[in-house]
Amino acid sequence: MSGSDRTAGERTTNPPVRRPADWDAERLRSLAAEYGTPLYVLDPDRVRQNCERLLGAFPDATVDYAVKANTTRTVLETVEQAGLGAECASAGEVRRALDAGFPAERVRYTAVNPPAADLDAVVDWWREGGDGLTVTVGARDALDALAERGYDGRLCVRVNPGVGAGHHEKVTTGDAPQFGVPFDRADEVCTAADDVGEFVGLHAHVGSGVSGEDLSAHEVLVARMAMLADELDPAPEFVSVGGGLGVPYSRDEPPLDLESVADATRDAFDCDARLAVEPGRYVVADAGILLTEATTVKETEETVVVGVDAGMTTLLRPALYDAYHEIRSLSGTVDGDDRHARDPTLCLVAGPVCETADVLGEERVLPAPERGDLLTVGTTGAYGYEMASTYNSRPRPAVVTLDGETVARRETLADLTRLEADGDDDGTRGADTRTADTRGDDA
Ligand SMILES: *Cc1c(COP(=O)(O)O)cnc(C)c1O
Repeated sequence: MSGSDRTAGERTTNPPVRRPADWDAERLRSLAAEYGTPLYVLDPDRVRQNCERLLGAFPDATVDYAVKANTTRTVLETVEQAGLGAECASAGEVRRALDAGFPAERVRYTAVNPPAADLDAVVDWWREGGDGLTVTVGARDALDALAERGYDGRLCVRVNPGVGAGHHEKVTTGDAPQFGVPFDRADEVCTAADDVGEFVGLHAHVGSGVSGEDLSAHEVLVARMAMLADELDPAPEFVSVGGGLGVPYSRDEPPLDLESVADATRDAFDCDARLAVEPGRYVVADAGILLTEATTVKETEETVVVGVDAGMTTLLRPALYDAYHEIRSLSGTVDGDDRHARDPTLCLVAGPVCETADVLGEERVLPAPERGDLLTVGTTGAYGYEMASTYNSRPRPAVVTLDGETVARRETLADLTRLEADGDDDGTRGADTRTADTRGDDA
Protein backbone atom coordinates (compact mmCIF):
# COMPACT_ATOMS: atom_id res chain seq x y z
CA MET A 1 0.00 0.00 0.00
CA SER A 2 1.42 3.36 -1.02
CA GLY A 3 1.75 6.29 1.33
CA SER A 4 -1.08 8.21 -0.26
CA ASP A 5 -3.40 5.20 -0.05
CA ARG A 6 -2.71 4.98 3.58
CA THR A 7 -3.45 8.63 4.16
CA ALA A 8 -6.72 8.29 2.28
CA GLY A 9 -7.63 5.22 4.32
CA GLU A 10 -6.90 6.98 7.57
CA ARG A 11 -8.94 9.91 6.51
CA THR A 12 -11.99 7.81 5.91
CA THR A 13 -11.62 5.77 9.08
CA ASN A 14 -10.81 8.71 11.31
CA PRO A 15 -12.53 11.84 9.98
CA PRO A 16 -11.80 15.19 11.66
CA VAL A 17 -15.30 15.35 13.09
CA ARG A 18 -18.26 13.06 13.65
CA ARG A 19 -21.42 14.97 12.88
CA PRO A 20 -24.75 14.25 14.58
CA ALA A 21 -26.04 12.92 11.22
CA ASP A 22 -23.22 10.35 11.12
CA TRP A 23 -24.61 8.35 14.03
CA ASP A 24 -26.50 5.18 13.08
CA ALA A 25 -30.14 6.16 13.58
CA GLU A 26 -31.37 2.56 13.83
CA ARG A 27 -28.89 1.84 16.58
CA LEU A 28 -29.83 5.00 18.49
CA ARG A 29 -33.53 4.13 18.27
CA SER A 30 -32.92 0.70 19.68
CA LEU A 31 -30.82 2.09 22.55
CA ALA A 32 -33.61 4.56 23.39
CA ALA A 33 -36.12 1.71 23.34
CA GLU A 34 -33.95 -0.40 25.63
CA TYR A 35 -32.71 2.21 28.11
CA GLY A 36 -35.35 4.92 27.93
CA THR A 37 -34.77 8.66 27.57
CA PRO A 38 -33.15 11.04 28.23
CA LEU A 39 -30.08 9.00 27.42
CA TYR A 40 -26.49 9.91 26.68
CA VAL A 41 -24.83 7.63 24.15
CA LEU A 42 -21.07 7.52 24.10
CA ASP A 43 -18.80 5.94 21.53
CA PRO A 44 -15.44 4.95 23.04
CA ASP A 45 -14.12 4.22 19.55
CA ARG A 46 -14.59 7.85 18.65
CA VAL A 47 -12.82 8.91 21.87
CA ARG A 48 -9.91 6.70 20.80
CA GLN A 49 -9.87 8.22 17.32
CA ASN A 50 -9.77 11.73 18.74
CA CYS A 51 -6.84 10.73 20.96
CA GLU A 52 -5.05 9.25 17.96
CA ARG A 53 -5.52 12.40 15.90
CA LEU A 54 -4.16 14.52 18.75
CA LEU A 55 -1.12 12.31 19.23
CA GLY A 56 -0.56 12.34 15.47
CA ALA A 57 -0.72 16.13 15.25
CA PHE A 58 1.47 16.72 18.31
CA PRO A 59 4.00 13.88 18.07
CA ASP A 60 6.66 15.60 20.18
CA ALA A 61 4.35 16.99 22.81
CA THR A 62 2.73 15.66 25.95
CA VAL A 63 -1.02 15.43 25.44
CA ASP A 64 -3.06 15.50 28.64
CA TYR A 65 -6.82 15.06 28.67
CA ALA A 66 -8.61 17.70 30.75
CA VAL A 67 -10.78 15.14 32.50
CA LYS A 68 -13.46 17.56 33.63
CA ALA A 69 -15.01 17.36 30.15
CA ASN A 70 -16.17 13.83 30.92
CA THR A 71 -14.94 11.82 33.91
CA THR A 72 -16.85 8.61 33.35
CA ARG A 73 -14.71 5.54 33.90
CA THR A 74 -15.24 4.40 30.32
CA VAL A 75 -13.81 7.63 28.94
CA LEU A 76 -10.93 7.73 31.42
CA GLU A 77 -9.90 4.14 30.65
CA THR A 78 -10.12 4.74 26.91
CA VAL A 79 -7.99 7.87 27.12
CA GLU A 80 -5.48 6.20 29.43
CA GLN A 81 -5.10 3.26 27.04
CA ALA A 82 -4.56 5.66 24.17
CA GLY A 83 -1.55 7.00 26.07
CA LEU A 84 -2.66 10.48 27.07
CA GLY A 85 -2.11 12.00 30.51
CA ALA A 86 -4.77 13.39 32.82
CA GLU A 87 -5.17 17.05 33.70
CA CYS A 88 -7.30 17.21 36.85
CA ALA A 89 -9.08 20.14 38.45
CA SER A 90 -9.94 18.66 41.83
CA ALA A 91 -9.02 15.89 44.26
CA GLY A 92 -12.06 13.98 43.03
CA GLU A 93 -10.77 14.06 39.48
CA VAL A 94 -7.31 12.96 40.60
CA ARG A 95 -8.86 10.01 42.47
CA ARG A 96 -10.93 8.97 39.47
CA ALA A 97 -7.96 9.27 37.11
CA LEU A 98 -5.79 7.11 39.39
CA ASP A 99 -8.60 4.58 39.83
CA ALA A 100 -9.06 4.37 36.07
CA GLY A 101 -5.42 3.35 35.73
CA PHE A 102 -3.50 6.52 34.98
CA PRO A 103 -0.05 6.16 36.53
CA ALA A 104 0.73 9.09 38.87
CA GLU A 105 3.48 10.19 36.45
CA ARG A 106 0.80 11.02 33.91
CA VAL A 107 -1.49 12.87 36.35
CA ARG A 108 -1.39 16.59 36.92
CA TYR A 109 -3.53 18.30 39.53
CA THR A 110 -4.18 21.95 38.77
CA ALA A 111 -5.23 23.59 41.98
CA VAL A 112 -7.34 26.70 41.31
CA ASN A 113 -7.90 28.25 44.76
CA PRO A 114 -7.74 24.71 46.16
CA PRO A 115 -9.96 23.79 49.11
CA ALA A 116 -7.97 22.43 52.08
CA ALA A 117 -9.67 19.04 51.79
CA ASP A 118 -8.46 18.70 48.18
CA LEU A 119 -4.87 19.44 49.17
CA ASP A 120 -5.06 17.03 52.12
CA ALA A 121 -6.27 14.25 49.88
CA VAL A 122 -3.87 14.85 47.01
CA VAL A 123 -0.85 15.13 49.31
CA ASP A 124 -1.92 11.83 50.95
CA TRP A 125 -2.06 10.07 47.60
CA TRP A 126 1.25 11.57 46.58
CA ARG A 127 2.78 10.22 49.79
CA GLU A 128 1.23 6.78 49.30
CA GLY A 129 3.22 6.13 46.16
CA GLY A 130 2.01 8.76 43.78
CA ASP A 131 5.27 10.63 43.86
CA GLY A 132 5.31 11.07 40.10
CA LEU A 133 2.28 13.30 40.40
CA THR A 134 2.58 16.96 39.45
CA VAL A 135 0.72 19.73 41.24
CA THR A 136 0.11 23.01 39.44
CA VAL A 137 -0.25 26.10 41.61
CA GLY A 138 -1.71 29.40 40.54
CA ALA A 139 -0.96 31.40 43.66
CA ARG A 140 1.78 31.79 46.20
CA ASP A 141 -0.66 30.77 48.95
CA ALA A 142 -1.28 27.42 47.32
CA LEU A 143 2.45 26.79 47.38
CA ASP A 144 2.59 27.62 51.08
CA ALA A 145 -0.42 25.42 51.79
CA LEU A 146 1.32 22.49 50.07
CA ALA A 147 4.57 23.15 51.97
CA GLU A 148 2.64 23.12 55.27
CA ARG A 149 1.41 19.64 54.40
CA GLY A 150 4.94 18.42 53.77
CA TYR A 151 4.65 18.31 49.99
CA ASP A 152 8.01 18.53 48.25
CA GLY A 153 7.17 16.85 44.95
CA ARG A 154 6.83 18.01 41.36
CA LEU A 155 5.45 21.53 40.94
CA CYS A 156 4.18 23.44 38.00
CA VAL A 157 3.28 27.13 38.05
CA ARG A 158 0.17 28.45 36.37
CA VAL A 159 0.80 31.79 34.75
CA ASN A 160 -1.72 34.36 33.65
CA PRO A 161 -0.09 35.31 30.35
CA GLY A 162 -2.25 38.36 29.64
CA VAL A 163 -1.32 40.28 32.74
CA GLY A 164 1.80 42.37 32.61
CA ALA A 165 2.66 45.74 31.23
CA GLY A 166 3.38 46.56 27.66
CA HIS A 167 3.06 43.38 25.64
CA HIS A 168 0.38 42.75 23.05
CA GLU A 169 -2.33 44.63 24.84
CA LYS A 170 -4.71 44.23 21.95
CA VAL A 171 -4.66 40.48 22.06
CA THR A 172 -6.47 38.94 24.97
CA THR A 173 -4.38 36.05 26.09
CA GLY A 174 -5.22 36.31 29.75
CA ASP A 175 -7.59 34.41 31.98
CA ALA A 176 -9.80 36.03 34.52
CA PRO A 177 -7.54 37.25 37.32
CA GLN A 178 -8.41 34.31 39.58
CA PHE A 179 -6.35 31.99 37.37
CA GLY A 180 -2.61 31.91 37.58
CA VAL A 181 0.07 34.20 38.88
CA PRO A 182 0.59 37.48 37.04
CA PHE A 183 3.11 37.16 34.21
CA ASP A 184 5.55 39.64 35.79
CA ARG A 185 5.64 37.70 39.04
CA ALA A 186 5.99 34.25 37.51
CA ASP A 187 9.75 34.23 37.93
CA GLU A 188 9.50 34.78 41.67
CA VAL A 189 6.82 32.10 42.17
CA CYS A 190 8.78 29.57 40.09
CA THR A 191 11.81 30.14 42.31
CA ALA A 192 9.64 29.72 45.39
CA ALA A 193 8.24 26.51 43.90
CA ASP A 194 11.73 25.16 43.48
CA ASP A 195 12.37 25.89 47.17
CA VAL A 196 9.27 23.96 48.23
CA GLY A 197 9.70 21.03 45.87
CA GLU A 198 10.92 20.41 42.34
CA PHE A 199 9.90 23.07 39.83
CA VAL A 200 9.12 21.20 36.61
CA GLY A 201 6.60 23.09 34.54
CA LEU A 202 4.86 26.22 33.41
CA HIS A 203 1.18 26.24 32.61
CA ALA A 204 -1.37 28.56 31.07
CA HIS A 205 -4.92 27.93 29.96
CA VAL A 206 -6.78 30.72 28.28
CA GLY A 207 -10.11 28.98 28.17
CA SER A 208 -11.53 30.43 24.99
CA GLY A 209 -11.86 28.23 21.97
CA VAL A 210 -8.85 27.83 19.73
CA SER A 211 -10.40 27.97 16.28
CA GLY A 212 -8.80 27.61 12.89
CA GLU A 213 -9.90 31.10 11.88
CA ASP A 214 -7.78 33.13 14.21
CA LEU A 215 -4.77 31.58 15.78
CA SER A 216 -3.03 34.87 16.58
CA ALA A 217 -4.07 34.98 20.26
CA HIS A 218 -2.99 31.37 20.64
CA GLU A 219 0.36 32.10 18.99
CA VAL A 220 0.99 35.08 21.26
CA LEU A 221 0.21 32.96 24.30
CA VAL A 222 2.53 30.17 23.18
CA ALA A 223 5.34 32.60 22.31
CA ARG A 224 5.09 34.40 25.63
CA MET A 225 5.15 31.17 27.58
CA ALA A 226 8.15 29.91 25.61
CA MET A 227 9.97 33.18 26.20
CA LEU A 228 9.28 33.01 29.92
CA ALA A 229 10.41 29.38 30.09
CA ASP A 230 13.72 30.27 28.47
CA GLU A 231 14.40 32.95 31.06
CA LEU A 232 13.80 30.78 34.10
CA ASP A 233 16.41 29.16 36.25
CA PRO A 234 15.94 26.28 36.77
CA ALA A 235 14.41 25.81 33.36
CA PRO A 236 11.11 23.92 33.32
CA GLU A 237 10.86 20.40 31.88
CA PHE A 238 7.61 21.23 30.12
CA VAL A 239 5.35 24.12 29.21
CA SER A 240 1.65 23.44 28.96
CA VAL A 241 -0.21 25.88 26.75
CA GLY A 242 -3.62 24.69 27.87
CA GLY A 243 -6.68 23.30 26.16
CA GLY A 244 -9.43 25.06 24.33
CA LEU A 245 -9.21 23.24 20.97
CA GLY A 246 -12.58 23.96 19.40
CA VAL A 247 -15.12 21.56 17.94
CA PRO A 248 -17.85 22.39 15.40
CA TYR A 249 -21.24 22.36 17.12
CA SER A 250 -23.24 23.54 14.14
CA ARG A 251 -23.64 21.91 10.79
CA ASP A 252 -21.98 24.73 8.81
CA GLU A 253 -18.90 25.10 10.99
CA PRO A 254 -15.86 23.37 9.53
CA PRO A 255 -13.89 21.02 11.76
CA LEU A 256 -10.77 22.37 13.44
CA ASP A 257 -7.70 22.04 11.28
CA LEU A 258 -5.65 20.29 13.92
CA GLU A 259 -2.52 20.18 11.76
CA SER A 260 -2.40 23.93 11.31
CA VAL A 261 -3.03 24.51 15.00
CA ALA A 262 -0.18 22.13 15.77
CA ASP A 263 2.09 23.80 13.20
CA ALA A 264 1.32 27.28 14.53
CA THR A 265 1.94 26.07 18.07
CA ARG A 266 5.25 24.48 17.18
CA ASP A 267 6.38 27.57 15.26
CA ALA A 268 5.59 29.89 18.15
CA PHE A 269 7.11 27.55 20.71
CA ASP A 270 10.71 28.59 20.54
CA CYS A 271 12.23 27.03 23.65
CA ASP A 272 13.97 23.93 24.98
CA ALA A 273 11.21 22.65 27.22
CA ARG A 274 8.76 19.99 26.11
CA LEU A 275 5.46 21.29 24.80
CA ALA A 276 2.29 20.08 26.52
CA VAL A 277 -1.33 20.56 25.47
CA GLU A 278 -4.42 19.66 27.46
CA PRO A 279 -7.59 19.42 25.41
CA GLY A 280 -10.83 18.37 27.07
CA ARG A 281 -13.70 19.08 24.73
CA TYR A 282 -11.80 17.96 21.64
CA VAL A 283 -11.36 14.45 23.04
CA VAL A 284 -14.99 13.71 23.85
CA ALA A 285 -17.44 16.24 22.39
CA ASP A 286 -18.27 14.44 19.15
CA ALA A 287 -18.07 11.04 20.85
CA GLY A 288 -21.38 11.67 22.60
CA ILE A 289 -24.98 12.31 21.62
CA LEU A 290 -28.09 12.88 23.74
CA LEU A 291 -31.40 11.15 23.00
CA THR A 292 -34.62 12.75 24.15
CA GLU A 293 -38.30 12.14 23.53
CA ALA A 294 -40.90 14.75 22.60
CA THR A 295 -43.52 14.73 25.34
CA THR A 296 -45.71 17.62 24.20
CA VAL A 297 -46.14 19.55 20.97
CA LYS A 298 -47.86 22.90 21.21
CA GLU A 299 -48.58 25.47 18.54
CA THR A 300 -48.25 29.06 19.65
CA GLU A 301 -48.48 32.27 17.66
CA GLU A 302 -44.72 32.55 17.28
CA THR A 303 -43.56 29.00 17.00
CA VAL A 304 -44.23 25.36 17.68
CA VAL A 305 -43.04 24.41 21.14
CA VAL A 306 -41.68 20.91 21.44
CA GLY A 307 -41.48 19.82 25.06
CA VAL A 308 -38.83 17.14 25.57
CA ASP A 309 -37.77 14.99 28.49
CA ALA A 310 -34.20 16.37 28.55
CA GLY A 311 -33.59 19.86 29.85
CA MET A 312 -31.08 22.07 31.58
CA THR A 313 -30.60 19.44 34.29
CA THR A 314 -29.57 16.97 31.58
CA LEU A 315 -27.55 19.35 29.39
CA LEU A 316 -26.70 22.69 30.98
CA ARG A 317 -24.64 24.30 28.21
CA PRO A 318 -27.49 26.00 26.31
CA ALA A 319 -28.86 27.58 29.51
CA LEU A 320 -25.46 28.43 30.97
CA TYR A 321 -23.52 29.59 27.92
CA ASP A 322 -26.18 30.06 25.25
CA ALA A 323 -24.39 27.18 23.61
CA TYR A 324 -25.66 25.79 20.32
CA HIS A 325 -26.23 22.06 19.87
CA GLU A 326 -27.71 20.64 16.69
CA ILE A 327 -31.12 19.03 17.22
CA ARG A 328 -32.40 16.39 14.81
CA SER A 329 -35.45 14.21 14.62
CA LEU A 330 -35.05 10.46 14.30
CA SER A 331 -38.76 10.01 13.77
CA GLY A 332 -39.51 12.15 10.75
CA THR A 333 -37.61 13.58 7.80
CA VAL A 334 -38.39 16.60 5.69
CA ASP A 335 -37.35 15.30 2.32
CA GLY A 336 -36.39 11.72 3.07
CA ASP A 337 -38.40 8.56 2.58
CA ASP A 338 -42.15 9.05 2.01
CA ARG A 339 -43.15 7.09 5.05
CA HIS A 340 -41.50 9.61 7.40
CA ALA A 341 -41.60 12.78 5.29
CA ARG A 342 -43.18 15.70 7.11
CA ASP A 343 -43.36 19.45 6.63
CA PRO A 344 -40.38 21.48 7.81
CA THR A 345 -41.50 23.33 10.93
CA LEU A 346 -39.94 26.10 12.95
CA CYS A 347 -39.69 24.89 16.56
CA LEU A 348 -38.55 25.85 20.00
CA VAL A 349 -37.30 22.82 21.92
CA ALA A 350 -37.82 23.18 25.66
CA GLY A 351 -37.09 20.99 28.66
CA PRO A 352 -39.27 20.02 31.61
CA VAL A 353 -37.98 22.58 34.12
CA CYS A 354 -40.00 25.68 35.02
CA GLU A 355 -37.26 28.15 34.08
CA THR A 356 -37.22 30.40 31.04
CA ALA A 357 -33.61 29.30 30.50
CA ASP A 358 -34.69 25.69 30.04
CA VAL A 359 -34.51 25.78 26.26
CA LEU A 360 -32.31 23.37 24.30
CA GLY A 361 -32.78 25.12 20.99
CA GLU A 362 -34.66 28.06 19.47
CA GLU A 363 -35.77 28.55 15.88
CA ARG A 364 -34.90 25.05 14.83
CA VAL A 365 -36.37 23.54 11.74
CA LEU A 366 -37.61 20.02 12.43
CA PRO A 367 -39.88 17.71 10.49
CA ALA A 368 -43.37 18.56 11.86
CA PRO A 369 -42.99 17.21 15.39
CA GLU A 370 -45.34 14.74 17.04
CA ARG A 371 -45.59 13.53 20.60
CA GLY A 372 -43.36 10.51 21.06
CA ASP A 373 -40.78 11.58 18.46
CA LEU A 374 -37.20 10.71 19.25
CA LEU A 375 -34.78 13.62 18.94
CA THR A 376 -30.99 13.79 19.15
CA VAL A 377 -29.03 16.66 20.63
CA GLY A 378 -25.64 16.50 18.98
CA THR A 379 -22.02 16.83 20.07
CA THR A 380 -22.77 16.42 23.75
CA GLY A 381 -19.94 14.16 24.88
CA ALA A 382 -18.11 17.03 26.61
CA TYR A 383 -19.55 18.98 29.54
CA GLY A 384 -22.90 17.24 29.04
CA TYR A 385 -23.37 14.44 31.54
CA GLU A 386 -20.61 16.04 33.56
CA MET A 387 -22.70 19.13 34.26
CA ALA A 388 -26.00 17.28 34.79
CA SER A 389 -27.75 18.05 38.06
CA THR A 390 -30.68 16.83 40.08
CA TYR A 391 -32.39 20.23 40.23
CA ASN A 392 -36.17 19.77 40.33
CA SER A 393 -35.50 16.35 41.89
CA ARG A 394 -34.92 15.03 38.43
CA PRO A 395 -32.65 12.00 38.51
CA ARG A 396 -29.66 12.24 36.21
CA PRO A 397 -29.87 10.34 32.91
CA ALA A 398 -28.12 7.10 32.07
CA VAL A 399 -25.04 6.91 29.86
CA VAL A 400 -24.51 3.90 27.61
CA THR A 401 -21.97 3.07 24.95
CA LEU A 402 -23.00 2.68 21.35
CA ASP A 403 -22.59 -1.07 21.93
CA GLY A 404 -25.16 -0.95 24.70
CA GLU A 405 -22.90 -1.21 27.72
CA THR A 406 -23.82 0.83 30.76
CA VAL A 407 -21.36 3.64 31.46
CA ALA A 408 -23.47 5.12 34.26
CA ARG A 409 -26.89 3.80 35.20
CA ARG A 410 -29.88 6.08 35.37
CA GLU A 411 -30.32 7.68 38.78
CA THR A 412 -33.40 6.66 40.76
CA LEU A 413 -35.62 8.59 43.11
CA ALA A 414 -33.96 6.68 45.97
CA ASP A 415 -30.58 8.02 44.84
CA LEU A 416 -31.90 11.54 45.28
CA THR A 417 -32.47 11.19 49.02
CA ARG A 418 -29.59 8.90 49.81
CA LEU A 419 -27.44 11.62 51.36
CA GLU A 420 -30.11 12.87 53.73
CA ALA A 421 -29.86 12.05 57.41
CA ASP A 422 -33.02 9.94 57.31
CA GLY A 423 -32.12 8.30 54.06
CA ASP A 424 -32.71 4.58 54.07
CA ASP A 425 -29.31 3.71 52.67
CA ASP A 426 -26.40 3.84 55.08
CA GLY A 427 -23.89 2.13 52.81
CA THR A 428 -23.38 5.19 50.72
CA ARG A 429 -19.93 6.25 51.83
CA GLY A 430 -18.73 3.92 49.19
CA ALA A 431 -15.72 3.91 46.96
CA ASP A 432 -13.70 6.75 48.37
CA THR A 433 -14.15 8.30 51.74
CA ARG A 434 -10.58 9.22 52.31
CA THR A 435 -11.10 12.93 51.95
CA ALA A 436 -13.95 12.85 54.42
CA ASP A 437 -12.14 10.49 56.79
CA THR A 438 -8.93 12.45 56.94
CA ARG A 439 -10.97 15.46 57.79
CA GLY A 440 -12.99 13.61 60.39
CA ASP A 441 -13.77 16.80 62.24
CA ASP A 442 -15.74 18.22 59.33
CA ALA A 443 -19.35 18.98 59.90
C1 LIG B 1 -11.07 23.10 31.26
C2 LIG B 1 -9.64 23.09 31.13
C3 LIG B 1 -9.03 22.58 29.97
C4 LIG B 1 -9.79 22.02 28.81
O1 LIG B 1 -10.54 22.95 28.12
P1 LIG B 1 -11.28 22.48 26.78
O2 LIG B 1 -11.92 23.72 26.28
O3 LIG B 1 -12.28 21.45 27.16
O4 LIG B 1 -10.25 21.94 25.87
C5 LIG B 1 -7.65 22.53 29.95
N1 LIG B 1 -6.91 23.01 30.97
C6 LIG B 1 -7.47 23.52 32.08
C7 LIG B 1 -6.60 24.01 33.17
C8 LIG B 1 -8.85 23.58 32.20
O5 LIG B 1 -9.38 24.11 33.30
